[in-house]
Amino acid sequence: METQYTSTRNSNVHINTKEAIVKGFSDDNGLFVLPHLSDHKINLGSIMKQDYQGMAAIILQKLLPDFSATEIKQCLHDAYDHSFDTKKITPLVQVDNFHVLELFHGPTSAFKDVGLQLLPQLMKHALKPEQRVMILAATSGDTGTAALAGFKNTKQMGITVFYPHGGVSPIQQQQMLTTKGNNTNVASIKGNFDDAQTNVKKIFNNQNVKKQIGKHVSLSSANSINIGRLIPQIVYYFSAYQQLIQSHQIQIGDQINFTVPTGNFGDILAGYYAKKLGLPIKKLVIACNANNVLADFFHDGVYNRNRKFYKTVAPSMDIQVSSNFERLLYYKSGENAEYVKQLMDDLSTNGQYRVSKDVLNRIKQDFSCGFSDDRAIEDSIKTVYQKYHYLMDPHTAAGYQVMRKIQKQDSKTPMILLSTASPYKFVSAVSDAILGHHDQSVIQTTKNIYNTTKVKIPNNLTDIWDLPIAKSPVIEPNAMSSFVVQKVSEVFSNDQN
Ligand SMILES: *Cc1c(COP(=O)(O)O)cnc(C)c1O
Repeated sequence: METQYTSTRNSNVHINTKEAIVKGFSDDNGLFVLPHLSDHKINLGSIMKQDYQGMAAIILQKLLPDFSATEIKQCLHDAYDHSFDTKKITPLVQVDNFHVLELFHGPTSAFKDVGLQLLPQLMKHALKPEQRVMILAATSGDTGTAALAGFKNTKQMGITVFYPHGGVSPIQQQQMLTTKGNNTNVASIKGNFDDAQTNVKKIFNNQNVKKQIGKHVSLSSANSINIGRLIPQIVYYFSAYQQLIQSHQIQIGDQINFTVPTGNFGDILAGYYAKKLGLPIKKLVIACNANNVLADFFHDGVYNRNRKFYKTVAPSMDIQVSSNFERLLYYKSGENAEYVKQLMDDLSTNGQYRVSKDVLNRIKQDFSCGFSDDRAIEDSIKTVYQKYHYLMDPHTAAGYQVMRKIQKQDSKTPMILLSTASPYKFVSAVSDAILGHHDQSVIQTTKNIYNTTKVKIPNNLTDIWDLPIAKSPVIEPNAMSSFVVQKVSEVFSNDQN
């Protein structure tokens, strides 16, 4: 069976899984994909007998065949044995006639931990002894935080995170500046998230930088387009299904639905992969916030990024180009790389593309889509807390009304809502929703929420306020490349690294 990856934009590309993980994305700017995904079906009966890491081992073995069984076991152990606050990793909680899959039990209390705890471990086993990698990440909050936690103190690797000065939440900033490792670097830039992102992309292609860092050091990305981050996320869809079987809500083979708060389309794409591998999923429901590019796409097949950008109470979903959507287009166009390349060229020259009726219809067979604006998000947090005593963060809440609409059309199929962050990561919006106001101080707001709800505060979010804060410079966007060169030389001058 063919297990070489190719590029969404060029079918002549063939790459093995270890190289694909180290590289991140293809030279043609396409994403790495595995052709004929449904040829790799997983036996549902046997995977359902495993614990979380056992399920993960089966999935990784299928999709990352260049790793030995021993390597995979070691990676899973290092990623998940100690850093999550529950053995279930992603526990399922029943609320009314739906279930919430809590993806926020990792070290930074956001779902990105599931992928970013494992990616560095996979990368470690993919690197040759002489190779060194500096990970670059531009972040609006959660990615940088989770990436720092995942990569800190890993051998042969370093990480440099750029965030917009004044552009992340106080909690996220505190988390980043208190993550201390011998290989971690953080700088804020005078500019917004797009400036940070654009300049990181430029650094990847900067020949001058490549010359200065030397041929043994490569630059890579911890963005959700890396298959080493995407594949670990397939596991929790299987785990959710297993937990429904264990609580006698379904029998093996029954279909279920998922609603997923969506930004870059990584989380929900992993659900589509799970379906292709044989998990009985009926519909995957995409939930956006006011930045509803995808909801519009579902109406007419036009993806148009030329639109107003909203800063919402669910900032990790404030995205206009959902990078991983490109992979769905690849599969839904019949793995037609030429077609995908044309669409992506249209997007970069005109800011929009239109897919054929066929492609749109095929997407609609597996997916539905809706959105919640800030008002709907706060209403949902309040309603669900008052009616069911369950506290949602604003990202999770963006899925609530979208999910309810689907449940009205289909009340029989069990529904799981993915919860992507702890409510204590976004305390102002949560406090506004349930208490009608929030305090200037984050610590006080956190206490107020706790005193009212008695929902436990994750340890990592209380600990950060007592830790020493690392120095982090504020730099101009055009100084980012020299910052990277300097950090490469500092991190890798040490023999240990
Ligand atoms: C990143 C993130 C999302 C969006 O996930 P994608 O995989 O980018 O679609 C949603 N909620 C939170 C809290 C996040 O950090």
